[in-house]
Amino acid sequence: MNPAATTTQPWVLGPDRHGQTVWIAGEHCVGATDRMPAFTLPCPDATIEPGRINAHTHLYSGLVPFDMPPPSPPPENFLQILQRLWWRLDRALDGATLRAAARYYIAEALLAGTTTLIDHHESPHFIDGSLDLLADACEELGIRALLGYGASERNGGAAEADAGLQECARLVRGRAASSTALRGAVAIHASFTVSDATLRRAGRLCRDLGAPLHIHLAEDRSDVADAQRRGYAGPLQRLVALEVPLENAILAHGVCLSVAEAAAATAAGAWLVHNPRSNRNNRVGYASALHANPRVALGSDGFPARMEDEVAALAPADRARVAERHRAAARLNSALFGIPFAAALPAAPGCAADFRVVDAAGVRHVVVGGRLVVRDRRLLTADPAEIRAAAATAARDLWARMATAASPG
Ligand SMILES: [Zn+2]
Repeated sequence: MNPAATTTQPWVLGPDRHGQTVWIAGEHCVGATDRMPAFTLPCPDATIEPGRINAHTHLYSGLVPFDMPPPSPPPENFLQILQRLWWRLDRALDGATLRAAARYYIAEALLAGTTTLIDHHESPHFIDGSLDLLADACEELGIRALLGYGASERNGGAAEADAGLQECARLVRGRAASSTALRGAVAIHASFTVSDATLRRAGRLCRDLGAPLHIHLAEDRSDVADAQRRGYAGPLQRLVALEVPLENAILAHGVCLSVAEAAAATAAGAWLVHNPRSNRNNRVGYASALHANPRVALGSDGFPARMEDEVAALAPADRARVAERHRAAARLNSALFGIPFAAALPAAPGCAADFRVVDAAGVRHVVVGGRLVVRDRRLLTADPAEIRAAAATAARDLWARMATAASPG
């Protein structure tokens, strides 16, 4: 029997090796009662943990593991990495390749025990409807997600940015409003690819929708230099000057923020996301100003959502504070989804029922919103072989399109 698919009757996860149990009914944790439920999933040789939260990533890069060709000529700096790789890839995405990428990424995330994805999406030739396609994949496979289209002017100017912001608004007002596992953000690619007018408009939209901003901020010195050329002290100060609300804003990377800037951002209600693997890969530096700050979570920025790998990429002193990172991620999720998330067990009644069960061989079971989505290392919500085969086919198509879609527009 698969407990949560059909019933709101309580069921029990555990006891685990520490004697911990979690009582679940519907989407939440509930208090234990004297009567044992009909369905229990004991795991006496494993440990129940809260599901991991990936606080900044890109479902659109889900096909990268399928032999993505290296950019040519080899990029020498961050902007060239964007121009020769990621902006070429996102322009080549259509509905079919995006769907295959998202489903593969989500399936792998769930099998790795990651239960929430905070996604930042861009597909400039397929904007309208792109977030619905991602939402479909999230709901099909059973992952919790915050979705947003990263508005930018880098290909099509103000009209492109408008389309991106409209896509965000459509999701927030539409299916995210009636879902418990789906939320929408107002996303901006980065300060350096948008005008003041677009940032002001994004700020108004955040306030009108009650939705958070999600942006790449100070990822590289080029973002800071651009804001300074426009007359601001930096990209954070630009957001503030243009009245973009920072309350619950998700600011990814922050590599070039000072300790004082990081503190100012989080004092204004923002969350910072450290992406150590991506920062190392892009050679933009180590985000050393972040880790003294309690409102910092971890994100994989398009790398597979195995959050242990992200922890391993932290500097040793920061690795020692990983529990604080998990607490920040749980608080961030609580703010986004409007229900408490436990950062550690025991989970109080009313908390979201998002858990994973881990043993010596890895992640064994995964529960998202009370739904058992991985059992005995097997995805229950879709056929992983079909997802992988579709991804391999789509990847070949995408690499061929990338080779020809070299110029903007
Ligand atoms: Zn990113």
